[in-house]
Amino acid sequence: MRSYTLVAPAKINLYLEIIGDRPDGYHELVMILQSIDLADQIDLHAGGNDNIRVRCDHPQVPLDGSNIAYRAAKLMATEFSEAFAKYGGVDITIHKHIPVAAGLAGGSTNAAAVLLGMNLLWNLGLTQSELEELGATLGSDVPFCVAGGTALATGRGEQLSVLPSLDKIYLVLGKYRSLEVSTAWAYKSYRQQFGSSYIRDQNDLAARAAAVHSGPMVKAILHQDGVEIGQKLHNDLERVVLPTYPQVLRLREIFASTGVLGTMMSGSGPSVFALCESKEQAEQVKLEVRERIPDEDLELFVTRMITHGIQVISSV
Ligand code: ATP
Repeated sequence: MRSYTLVAPAKINLYLEIIGDRPDGYHELVMILQSIDLADQIDLHAGGNDNIRVRCDHPQVPLDGSNIAYRAAKLMATEFSEAFAKYGGVDITIHKHIPVAAGLAGGSTNAAAVLLGMNLLWNLGLTQSELEELGATLGSDVPFCVAGGTALATGRGEQLSVLPSLDKIYLVLGKYRSLEVSTAWAYKSYRQQFGSSYIRDQNDLAARAAAVHSGPMVKAILHQDGVEIGQKLHNDLERVVLPTYPQVLRLREIFASTGVLGTMMSGSGPSVFALCESKEQAEQVKLEVRERIPDEDLELFVTRMITHGIQVISSV
C-alpha cells in the first residue's frame, strides 16, 4: 500500500485534577479522557524520497518541524531507520476540523494518526502499546489518542486505564476562533496560584488517596449515567483560565443556564462543552447559545462521544 487515510478524533476532559509536581517538571494528574466524533482527516502518502512533508491549509497550523505530525514522522524515521531507508519519506496532509489550541488534543491526535499510519505504511507490525509508548515521547495526550474511547489517565496523562466506553452522549462544544490558550501558561499559572496545596510526596499513598477525587465520576461512568456524569464534571484549570478569559466564563454560564446535564471547559481550554440528554436538545442548545452570543468568532459544534481513537478509512 502507498497511501492511507485516517480519521483522528478530538478528546474532551470529563475530569482533570492536578495532584502535584513531578521531578520531570510536569504535573501529576488524574484525568478522564473521552473521544468525540469531531475529527481531522490525515492522508499519508509514501513520498518516494527521503523527505517528510506536511500540508495543511489551516492558518494556525505550522508546516515546519514544529508540527507535531511532522515530529511523529521524524520519530518513526529515527526509530526505524531501516524501514525509512527502504520505503523513504512521507507526505502528510492534514484536513483540519478540530479547533486549534483549544484543549481538544488536536495536534496530539494528528501525531497518533501518523504513528499508526506509518506503522502500516512501513509494515512494522507494532502493537498498540508500542505505539502508545512512542507517542508518550511526543506529548502526554498522544498515547490516549491512539485507541481513544473512555480512559482514566494518570502520571502526566500518559498512563492509561481503560474505562467502560461511553457512546452516543451528545454535547455542544463552543470555541472562540481567535482565542488561544497556551497549555504551558495554564499549568504554570496554576502552579503559581495553587502550588502550596500540592501533595509533597507522590509515594505517600495516604496523601495521594486524600488528594484524588475522581471516584464518583468513575462510578457515574460505570453506571453509564449521563445525569450523574454531568454533575461530576471537574477541571482544576478552570480556576486560572476562567478569571483570565471572561468570554469563556460567559460562554460557560450561558451553557449552564440552558438546562444541560453539565458544562465544563476541556483541558486547558478555551473550548467549553455542554452535555445534553439527546441530539435534539444539543441542536436546541446550539441555537439558543447562537442567539444569545451572535458573535461570528464563536464556533459551535454538535458532536457526540465515541468509543474509538484513530481509524483507518481507506488505503490504496
Ligand atoms: P492539548 O489538548 O493536547 O493541550 P490543544 O488542543 O490545546 O492540545 P493543539 O490544537 O494541539 O492544542 O495546538 C497547540 C499548538 O500546537 C498550536 O499553537 C499549534 O500552532 C501547534 N501545532 C503543532 N502541530 C499541530 C497540529 N498538527 N495541529 C494543530 N496544532 C498544531
